[in-house]
Amino acid sequence: MSKLEIHQIPVLNDNYLYLFKDPQSNNVGIVDPAVSGPVLDKLNELNWTLTHIINTHHHMDHTGANLELKEKTGCVIVGSKEDAARIPGIDIQLVEGDIFEFGTQSAKIFDVSGHTVGHIAYWFEESDALFCGDTLFALGCGRLFEGSPAQMWTSLGKFLKLPDETKIYCAHEYTEANAHFAVTVEPQNKALKLRFDDILKKRAANIPTVPSTIGEEKATNPFLRPDSPDLQSTLGMQGADLVSVFAETRRRKDSF
Ligand code: ZN
Ligand code: FE
Repeated sequence: MSKLEIHQIPVLNDNYLYLFKDPQSNNVGIVDPAVSGPVLDKLNELNWTLTHIINTHHHMDHTGANLELKEKTGCVIVGSKEDAARIPGIDIQLVEGDIFEFGTQSAKIFDVSGHTVGHIAYWFEESDALFCGDTLFALGCGRLFEGSPAQMWTSLGKFLKLPDETKIYCAHEYTEANAHFAVTVEPQNKALKLRFDDILKKRAANIPTVPSTIGEEKATNPFLRPDSPDLQSTLGMQGADLVSVFAETRRRKDSF
């Protein structure tokens, strides 16, 4: 099986868009187009024709160019059924467990409510690619604007079951700020310390830290590690249930 060809496009302050093609069918998708200009430029440069907009959730910095790109290219807009009223121009509505067919490739759909309700993620298993929007970030997770900690923990649990080599194509470069927080709550984590140093070097050289892999996140991301004795002891929550530890970690990050 061939894999998707994926290009990362940095836009605005810290957003990443992903432009990708199925080499067999020539289907071309853009994940969460905040703006249109850089997408049209990249399509032009690659000589690709946009066929699909793939939305993870309704926020403006993920859907801002939906209608303009649809008008200019005639592409189809794909998003969450539960969020359909808030996704401009939506054509194809998906729910948890759906398989989204994209040319010869397919993505499994996860409902990952928490950051927003109706947030979805797309897992292209053959390409080891997870487009997860604002649910999971490198060393972080999305703020809980609409969902509860229990909902977000359930959502993140779906990612924990994916193969370690799965690439996490998240929508923001928040990694450096996340890293500064992570080392305060899990100070004994050696893998985290090594990753922290690597992230500072990369960011100083303006190199993206995204995508990471689920394996790296499992080893170092405090929001995936509420079972860590180090984290629990920093929070004074030894033996507490995982949702409570996750909720307290999220609460502390909100005011970090
Ligand atoms: Zn968002
Ligand atoms: Fe966002």
